[in-house]
Amino acid sequence: MKLICGASNQDLSSIWDLCALYATAGVHCIDVAADAAVVHTAREALDWVQKSIGVRPWLMISVSDGQDEHFRKAWFNPKLCPMDCPRPCQKTCPALAITKQEGINSKRCYGCGRCIPRCPLGLIVEQDHHLKLKDVGPLLAELRPDAIEIHTAPGRKNEFQATFSEIMSAKVPFQRVAVSCGLQGYGITAKELAQELWERHSYLRRYKQKPLWQLDGRRMSGDLGGGTAKVAAKLWQKIHPLAPPGPLQLAGGTNEKTINYLPTKNGPAGIAFGGMARKLIQPWLIQAEANQIPLRKWPEGWQAALQEAKQLINPWLLRSSGHHTC
Ligand code: SF4
Ligand code: SF4
Repeated sequence: MKLICGASNQDLSSIWDLCALYATAGVHCIDVAADAAVVHTAREALDWVQKSIGVRPWLMISVSDGQDEHFRKAWFNPKLCPMDCPRPCQKTCPALAITKQEGINSKRCYGCGRCIPRCPLGLIVEQDHHLKLKDVGPLLAELRPDAIEIHTAPGRKNEFQATFSEIMSAKVPFQRVAVSCGLQGYGITAKELAQELWERHSYLRRYKQKPLWQLDGRRMSGDLGGGTAKVAAKLWQKIHPLAPPGPLQLAGGTNEKTINYLPTKNGPAGIAFGGMARKLIQPWLIQAEANQIPLRKWPEGWQAALQEAKQLINPWLLRSSGHHTC
């Protein structure tokens, strides 16, 4: 069970509360951006949870071996917007990152891309934010996360190997190395994707790392509804007979409906919830912000948000009977 805070999400105040809330609810792993301030914030939240209830999920950092939608942000110049624009970009943003005054708050934007086609004037562009290869090793050596995730894509075998060598140069004893990849948009078959995973598997085993495969159904779409949950479940159905050794975890489009599309026995080892998990507690985060207090210091809001988080993840915790999947 993993909470994805967002590989480009740098909204520190919400990250603190998200990490603390989902760690308290029982996730095994929290996945954050490769950013010193974000990691520091997530660690503070996990320290607080450990002190409060004695549990501590792994802290995972996500990197990519090339351009990737998870590692981008949108941008536009608000001075170019007509005064009478009905602001479809703002209405569509799930992270509430767009305001009239600032344009896009880059710390909040997590790169879902939904605003980009909504601007009738084509003012919104995407900007790549993935960590450059030379910066990966030094940053990991400084931040020393418990686990690492590498987002990869079909055809990027060499880039994956270069990124992984750089990761190993940091000499961090990772509890787990996750590899995230999907089919959507690549025009390949499930068999070809499995082949790509096998290539990465043999490379990871050379370094004696235990991989976890994160199957990315429909990227960053879990908050959109049941259809996306089906896509993620279908990807697992296609890949699991072909995949290399290691647990399979579903992501990309996962939400509360995902469990309904999977077998009750011998299903995927785990699940990662991202945008949907964040949206679920957004009302309380917004209210806490309006009250100018962190969510954790507002007992009624915290309890209500915690109930929501537990409702999302409990079916998975019960299903996996405490098996540590991340
Ligand atoms: S819609 Fe998505 S890409 Fe656009 S600003 Fe919001 S979070 Fe960023
Ligand atoms: S839709 Fe385009 S023009 Fe309208 S507010 Fe958004 S960026 Fe500006």
